Amino acid sequence: MMVQMLGVFAEFERATIIERVIAGMQKKAAKGGWNGGTRPLGYDYDPDTGALKVNDEEASLIREIFDLYTKQRMGSVAIARLLDERGERTKGGAHWSGNAIRVVLCNPVYVGKVYFRGETYPGQHPPLISMEQFENAEQLLDERGEEPAKRRSNMSDFLFSGLLICAKCDKHFVGATATGNGGVYRYYMCYSRQRYGSKVCDQDSLPAEQLESALIEHITNCLRDDAIIDASIEKAVAAKHVTTPRHKQELSRIERDLRDVSRRIDRYLQAFETGAIDPTFCGDRLSELKDRQADLESRREELAAAAESKQDPPQLADVRDIATAFADRLQDREIPRVKRILQKLVEKILVESRSTIRPFVTLSLVRIKGGWVGLAGLEPATNGL
Ligand SMILES: [Zn+2]
Repeated sequence: MMVQMLGVFAEFERATIIERVIAGMQKKAAKGGWNGGTRPLGYDYDPDTGALKVNDEEASLIREIFDLYTKQRMGSVAIARLLDERGERTKGGAHWSGNAIRVVLCNPVYVGKVYFRGETYPGQHPPLISMEQFENAEQLLDERGEEPAKRRSNMSDFLFSGLLICAKCDKHFVGATATGNGGVYRYYMCYSRQRYGSKVCDQDSLPAEQLESALIEHITNCLRDDAIIDASIEKAVAAKHVTTPRHKQELSRIERDLRDVSRRIDRYLQAFETGAIDPTFCGDRLSELKDRQADLESRREELAAAAESKQDPPQLADVRDIATAFADRLQDREIPRVKRILQKLVEKILVESRSTIRPFVTLSLVRIKGGWVGLAGLEPATNGL
């Protein structure tokens, strides 16, 4: 089957929205407010003040965990078992594990702090634990080698891994996690900065949750924006036309080579028939020439198909449908599925700074007999194939 590719390329720049979200979060954290994310056990979120308030029942469980660990000197796994047997559940409704206990024990929220982007700020909420007991727990964790598993979230949870590129040093961003604010905090960081420090690259790190939802929303909106899609199609079709003279040149060279190859084949066949040449040698040479002939013919077909596609550009309405279908699929709840689609759709996301993030999106279309379909690499976006 002859396929013809057309990359409908569009650069969508919507950095300001992402910037506003992130700046807002940081301002709130600096003021000691709760910046969203998972509410830590022991507190409720108070929408009136934007800060955390104590949940008495959960708070006593938190104090008990710290007491069991620092005063009773129980291990984290033993504490988990004890709570579990009593029917206690974590905030997410899961069974307690040693790691869940350790995550509680090193969360600075319990001494009245909020954590954001590697920094702790004095919070507006009351502490549940004295600083002395908290530090005592830290020391014990350290002595017992009970560091909480920082990598609760899998690398595959990072939707944009491999796609974010640092404009300052050209390296990729990598996903990373830290513990804070009652859970695992995910962020993306420039590889150079993570590996060699801010002297080598001082690129901002980006909070994963906010960046991901802002980018997905932005890409979805762009895919549903007819004006953006139409303009991208026009650009892609125009770009194809630019190559026409080169295609014509190549086509005439191929025609010439093809004539040459078939003349040689004829000559070998004649020599073979008259017995003027060693049949073994003749056979090898002949199949070489036939291969060459087949290559040239298939390239000629490709060029012909390309020429034809210029007269038959994709219909705007079809491409809008394809784009909308992609936008719909980005709303899937399954992270791996969304990630697969993003990896097909997004060429790169250039991070100049926290305030300028530029996603480059390409909709790859495939021309098959009778029309164009979107190439998702998974299944056709429309039922054309
Ligand atoms: Zn960098």
